[in-house]
Amino acid sequence: MTSVPDTTAPDCVFCGIVSGAVPARIVYSDDRTLAFLDIAPAAPGHTLVIPKGHVAQLLEATPEGAAAVIQAARNVARLLDAKLQPDGLTLFQAIKSAGWQDVPHLHVHVVPRWNGDDLVRPWTSELAEPHELDDVLAQLTI
Ligand code: ZN
Repeated sequence: MTSVPDTTAPDCVFCGIVSGAVPARIVYSDDRTLAFLDIAPAAPGHTLVIPKGHVAQLLEATPEGAAAVIQAARNVARLLDAKLQPDGLTLFQAIKSAGWQDVPHLHVHVVPRWNGDDLVRPWTSELAEPHELDDVLAQLTI
């Protein structure tokens, strides 16, 4: 069952998937969200979870819309875990192009992971200097 999205954006490929104008391999759908296989997967089963209504990115989502997307991402993660039996999963959500968002329609990547796969962390885990953390904390809390 597909509900009518609140909004659509012309020329948005993900809105096209919601409307059915753009073909996709749908793996999950509920009243507010849709999930489909990424056509350029990082790993077999790599799935994108989107709201059915057009929202450019997470910062513009309503609290209810954001909750629906993360609940769907959980459901998709459980589906992939049960059916593909990966060793783990990585969820990835990017905001704006500088944050590596490639399609301007809110989406969460759900990527099955296997021990020894060739995916790598995008950052190193080096300890920060305490004053650096204190400076950022001051910016966030003042
Ligand atoms: Zn869209």
